[in-house]
Amino acid sequence: MIPVPHDALAPQAPISSGLEQPRLLLVDDEPRLLSSLYELLQGRGYQLVTAASGTEALAQLSRLHFDLVLLDLGLPDISGHGVMDFINEKGIGADVIVVSGEVGIDAAIGALKRGAYDYLRKPYSREELLKTVGNALKARRLEEANQRMATQLENSEKMYRYLVDSSPDIIYTLNHEGRFTFVNDRAYQLLGYRREELIGQHYSVLVHEEDLERARYSFNERRVDERASRNVELRLKCHAGSNPERTFNNTLMTISLNAIGMHVPDQEVKKLEFFGTYGVARDITDRKRAEEVISYQAYHDILTDLPNRILFKDRLGLAVIQAKRKQTELAVMFIDLDRFKLVNDTLGHVKGDELLQQVAVRLKECLRKGDTLARQGGDEFTIVLPELRDRDDARSVADKFLECLQLPFDLDGHQVHISASIGIAIYPGHGESIDELLRHADIAMYQVKGQGKNGHAFYDESMQDVSHQKIALSQSLRRALENDELEMYYQPQIDAASGRIVGAEALMRWNHPTRGIVSPGEFLPFAEENGLMIPISDWMIGALCRDMLQWKAIAGNQVRLSLNLSPQYLDRGDFFEKMRGALLRHGIAPSQIEVEITENICIRNPQHAIEQLNKLGQLGVSVAIDDFGTGYSSLAYLHRFPVHTIKIDQSFVKEIHDEYGHYPVVLAIISIARGLGLNLIAEGVETEPQARYLRANGCMTMQGYLYHRPMPLPRFVDVLRGQGLPPGAANVLAFQA
Ligand code: C2E
Ligand code: CA
Ligand code: CA
Repeated sequence: MIPVPHDALAPQAPISSGLEQPRLLLVDDEPRLLSSLYELLQGRGYQLVTAASGTEALAQLSRLHFDLVLLDLGLPDISGHGVMDFINEKGIGADVIVVSGEVGIDAAIGALKRGAYDYLRKPYSREELLKTVGNALKARRLEEANQRMATQLENSEKMYRYLVDSSPDIIYTLNHEGRFTFVNDRAYQLLGYRREELIGQHYSVLVHEEDLERARYSFNERRVDERASRNVELRLKCHAGSNPERTFNNTLMTISLNAIGMHVPDQEVKKLEFFGTYGVARDITDRKRAEEVISYQAYHDILTDLPNRILFKDRLGLAVIQAKRKQTELAVMFIDLDRFKLVNDTLGHVKGDELLQQVAVRLKECLRKGDTLARQGGDEFTIVLPELRDRDDARSVADKFLECLQLPFDLDGHQVHISASIGIAIYPGHGESIDELLRHADIAMYQVKGQGKNGHAFYDESMQDVSHQKIALSQSLRRALENDELEMYYQPQIDAASGRIVGAEALMRWNHPTRGIVSPGEFLPFAEENGLMIPISDWMIGALCRDMLQWKAIAGNQVRLSLNLSPQYLDRGDFFEKMRGALLRHGIAPSQIEVEITENICIRNPQHAIEQLNKLGQLGVSVAIDDFGTGYSSLAYLHRFPVHTIKIDQSFVKEIHDEYGHYPVVLAIISIARGLGLNLIAEGVETEPQARYLRANGCMTMQGYLYHRPMPLPRFVDVLRGQGLPPGAANVLAFQA
């Protein structure tokens, strides 16, 4: 804010208050002359004051304001010249008419030199005196009017100057050559150039090179009407170093410029002559920046700062055009994080968002310049790799992605593992349009999901069928329940020491009328999504109890059944009651049952889960932690409810290649189980070395293809029958829902 100059805006003060009734000082030492003067001027609208000596005159002049002094030169104490000197010295604004009997020219010259308005010789005629006084006062009035006008002009000039200089906009004029003839103060404040630096300079010194062409029209504006330049956006260069008080954090300023031509009438040619341009430039840098932010937000994902799907499609469109022109291939990838929903459900959305941000950062690091990574929404990302040399390029980028996700993510102390499923579509082989490429990458991604996740696949036409099948699948799953197409398979669990079956895990299969046997990985996720998990689980419990009656007849109570419990099922409060009712109805001892839950079940709604599991425990059902080591939870919950068994996840077992090797994760899990006094089952045991390694390190119960694949009940009954009743040893059986 510029301080307003006081006199520029203050109301105009009257210069003289006395001219309405001018005040006159009459000075003469001769009383007769003084009184005749007084009488002569009296009654004519003057205020009259008399002084009979120089001293008295000085006293009156010091006290009052006079417009006119009628001064006798020949005073006894202080001469008339002395009085005039006093008037001049003190800057007293009164005019002086000398009235003198002195005949010498010197006296007259002395008086006029001292600024006397007129000189009257005594004796003077009445008319002469009155006329001189009248003239003096009139001249004075004119003078004061002029003065007042000058002051007014000066003030209004100050006013305009002030308005111009304190304008928020830069105001300037250019001459016909485009050189500055005027700039207001704002130019300095905004651009950092002093007035002296700019005056005489060509406007182009200020304009950003790229805008020069556009600037030329508006800075050379000759038009004055509505065709004149309006709101032309240009970038001006700021002078960074000139003003230490002001730091220009950007060296470019965007302005919106309005300019018109300036013309004077040319008398000879009788038309207006152009003599320059007047312009107003407004700083719109902030607005531009705001606009940029807004448009940035329209094309970017706020959470990850990545391009959003709109910008992605745009970039993909450009890449496709390029590829077509250069006859090269390009790859589109669809990346979907595996089990991300679980993180959101268990750790909350804030952590989920954090994970997405961290994932975005890691993915970005794998890209080359020119590749575009975008977030489609949720946990889905898309990538375009333009100018592919060959498909191996895309493959290796996908590998890099999967690899970069392998290290755990740290979410405020929570170590989270996440993997991704990646579908890849290549232009032009897998599609020529943006939508086709995206759709096919998406289908390929779903294929990866269905086949165990954490991998990548190129699109293939055969996948079309698969994805159509998927849709049909979820529809027909409802009918499967009605038509009794589901069936429980059993996979034996073997005691490594005796080689005997001590339990079996129940695994669900769907005997699809046209597709044959469908594995639970393919349809249970659909069941979860479509609200079918509850009726399916209800069915499962009934089926398991019926099946158990058959094997009990052969193996007695020696073989335990493990059933897999869906988190959704446990979330619903009535699971415990249903379980208890079914066991009672079928006369099955709860001690023969073990439920398998995953670690994540315990975090989603821990209090509720703990309650349900505790009640189960009281009933005599035991609890196993499935896929141990792959979840997000810590070990803390192991103390909080009755866990009896942990199952070493297949992925850890798969790592065991050499029975003499060292597999720290497996060893750690074994020692945790031992430390907490828990049973241990190794899952997915496929080879002898794996079995021997596990056994050598203290894991005695095995489940896996090395021993048996999951099998239908009749086969399982046969197998049980084949091994006969155990020689009295207390065996344990497991059962999964
Ligand atoms: P899970 O509980 O981890 O089950 C183990 C899976 O590993 C089973 O797959 C089993 O067939 C497979 N498997 C067993 N031994 C080996 C081996 O040596 N090598 C390999 N590669 N695999 C082996 P399945 O039957 O396809 O079941 C997949 C998942 O579906 C199960 O994982 C379980 O989480 C879920 N599930 C299966 N049946 C049910 C059920 O009745 N209810 C619920 N809620 N979930 C079920
Ligand atoms: Ca299981
Ligand atoms: Ca498992």
